This record gives sequence, C-alpha cells and structure tokens, in this order.
Amino acid sequence: MSAALAQALLDWYDRHRRRLPWRAAPGVRPDPYRVWLSEIMLQQTTVPVVAGYYQRFLERWPTLESLAHAELDDVLHAWQGLGYYARARNLHACARRLVVEHGGCFPTEEKALRALPGIGRYTAAAIAAIAFDRPATVVDGNVERVIARLCAVETPLPQAKTALYALAAELTPETRPGDYAQALMDLGASVCTPRNPGCLACPWRIACEGLALGIAESLPHRAPKRPRPLRHGVAFWLMRADGAVLLRRRPDDGLLGGMIELPTTPWRDEPWSLAEASAHGPQSLPWQALPEPVRHGFTHFEIELQVAAAETESDSGEDGDIWCPPARFSEHALPTLTRKLVRYAARHSPGPARKSEAEPG
Ligand code: SF4
Repeated sequence: MSAALAQALLDWYDRHRRRLPWRAAPGVRPDPYRVWLSEIMLQQTTVPVVAGYYQRFLERWPTLESLAHAELDDVLHAWQGLGYYARARNLHACARRLVVEHGGCFPTEEKALRALPGIGRYTAAAIAAIAFDRPATVVDGNVERVIARLCAVETPLPQAKTALYALAAELTPETRPGDYAQALMDLGASVCTPRNPGCLACPWRIACEGLALGIAESLPHRAPKRPRPLRHGVAFWLMRADGAVLLRRRPDDGLLGGMIELPTTPWRDEPWSLAEASAHGPQSLPWQALPEPVRHGFTHFEIELQVAAAETESDSGEDGDIWCPPARFSEHALPTLTRKLVRYAARHSPGPARKSEAEPG
C-alpha cells in the first residue's frame, strides 16, 4: 500500500510540482548549497518572504566558500527582517565548518549533517533527501498535517509527533526519495492546506482515512497553547547634541546574538521603576520615561520595554558603543524589536532626534 501511495504522489508531482527559485529542474542534480540555504531560510518563514532573501544571498555569496569567508556582520545585516537570527549565525558557522573540516562539501548522511551548526532533524533529512536523494523522512508542520489526515490520527500535537514521524517513515520510498519529499511538501502547501483542503485534486483521496471519516479538515488536533510569559525591561534612547544615538552590540551568544540594539536593562518578570532602571543606563543622567511601552513577541515569551530618553554632552562610554544618527541605522543589523523601539523613540523623544533629518533610515 505504501509503495502505491508513494507512486501516486510522485505521478502527481511530475504534473503539478511547484516552481521554486531553489528547486532544480527535473533531471538536474540539485546544488546542496542552495538546498541548505533555502531550507534554513524557510524555517519559521514563508516561501514568498524567503524568495527575495534567497536571491540576494545567492547574488552576494554564490558559493559555500564565499559565504564562509563573509563577515558575520554582513550576513546578519543581509538576514535583517527574516527573524530568528540564531539561524543566520549558525548559517555562517556551518559554512565555515564545512570549508574547514569537510573540504567545502556537505556530508550526505543525516547523522553527519545533524552534527553541523543549525541543522536539526528536519533540515538534515531535507538536505539528505533533496540534495542527495537519500530515503530520509522529512517531516515538518505541513507533512504532519497531511499524515494526520491521511491516517486519521486524532491524538493532538505535540504528543502525536512521534507517531506521525513513524507513519511518515513507513511511507518514504526507496525510489526517488528526493522528489517524494518535495512532493509531500507541495501537497501540504497547495492541496492539503490547513483550511479547505482540496481533496478532489489529491492523489491520496482514495486512501485518506480523515476524508472518509469526514474529519480531515479538523486534523491535526492541537493541545491548547500555554500563554507566553510577559517580561519587562527599559530601553535607553541616549542622544548626543549632534543627533547621534547610542547603539550597542549584543553578546554573540543567546537571543539576538551579535545584533545591534539600544542599550537596555536586564529583562525580568517584574516591571521596572524609572529610578531602578536608571542605575542600568549607559550614563548617569536624568532619564525621562516616554509614555507608552513597546511590546514584542518572541517564540517563548513576550517583552514589554519602556523607553527612557536623555541627552548627553559626553560620548564617553563602554568599549563597543556605536554612535549613529538614526538616518544611518539601516547600515546596522537591527532586530525587529530594536526597529520598533527606534520608530517609537524617534517620534516621541524630545531633542535633536525628533528633527526630520534624524528619522531612522
Ligand atoms: Fe489531505 Fe484531502 Fe488529500 Fe486527505 S484527501 S490527504 S485530507 S487533501
């Protein structure tokens, strides 16, 4: 049965495959570098968003070697707006590791791929299958949905993950596994969609248990999400008389590592008073709190940052301080949270940066 399902899907793929910028034409051997780059970019992001970034990356760094020799700052800057910046740092680290330790070639086995920075189970399987035609089981959210419906799995996610992976593995063929993996992705993206699945056009409709039971669209079930905790901090908007604003680089490790930000207090569960926060300011000054906090959601928590503004005559500060006019902020890799803070502070703070020439670039 599984061989027949795989063949039906491959036949469908031969007629309906999506044309994607990173996808090799039929019969053309895929370039592992392009497969890897697209798979890293597509994590947590959609195809239309990734397409432009992918083309710009390839124009700037057409080969693994060129990316390995790039400056991390340039990679982070080019990644700006794609979010989840650990992916960009890992992309760069992975390129370097491949050049230094693997002669500039990707390993073909999932296990060796998973030992590389930023490559987890899904991405290793996708590279092994698509780039090297290995019978790897490629399971992301789209594939989980298709398999849950095909096999009428009613256990909610995330508990059902192991069972769905096992069912997907049973279906994975030895013949054309790379095309099969891409076919399953395409089926999830264009036919077995979250709402209104196009079952009439589906090559698996005869076998689909979810369709037969009339429950397909309701699957997969999901356990209710726990609300994300809310954390608090204060960001400091420090202006010099010439309109330049103080920025800092975050440590390389951890959340938003290596990105450029406004200095902030530590982030914690309790709100800060201005007096308490001022002790963490980059200079000892009469800080003025701006009226509204800026809110931003990360994967595991939300953050609410009050903005405190002040002007200074002195740029004496810590090593690594960057004084930059807001009109030139675009030259730096600012994460979305910082860009929100900058937009808000530039509009609401008193002083030189309110002038039109000081609008963030
Ligand atoms: Fe999805 Fe419908 Fe195909 Fe079942 S028949 S796999 S629900 S599109």
